[in-house]
Amino acid sequence: MSEPSDDEVFAHFHDVRIDHDNIAHYRGLMAGRLLINRCDACGTWIYPHRPLCPQCLSWNVTPTQVSGKGRLYMYTFIMQSRDPGKPLREPMQAAAIELAEQPGLRYLSRVVNCPAAALAHDMPVALTWIEENGRLWPAFQPEGDAHG
Ligand SMILES: [Zn+2]
Repeated sequence: MSEPSDDEVFAHFHDVRIDHDNIAHYRGLMAGRLLINRCDACGTWIYPHRPLCPQCLSWNVTPTQVSGKGRLYMYTFIMQSRDPGKPLREPMQAAAIELAEQPGLRYLSRVVNCPAAALAHDMPVALTWIEENGRLWPAFQPEGDAHG
């Protein structure tokens, strides 16, 4: 299967602001791959999406697939509707996942398959995919009963 074209990415994420810096990330989502920019020169992972390495100022960055392992760094519940015409049915969770690839590399997502009361800081989580309105989105769920 060939990669989606730019036009296909724009059409698929018509309500997302796609730009030169994040299009590779969204192209990856269409294929069920979570891609984060990584510096070719020094190996630093870069998020939010930027074309320049903050460590060594190299412009040579490559969207690179992450392992999907991480820990719940922080989370909150948003109670306020963004659209007055569509009140929230329940509080919306927002979470920052610290990815295993690098300390401080925190991807904004949410934790699913986990009751709100069971959310805990630093809990191990793993990437999963959820479908919403016909689109795949990355999310995280508690890592299976690993040892300990
Ligand atoms: Zn670098």
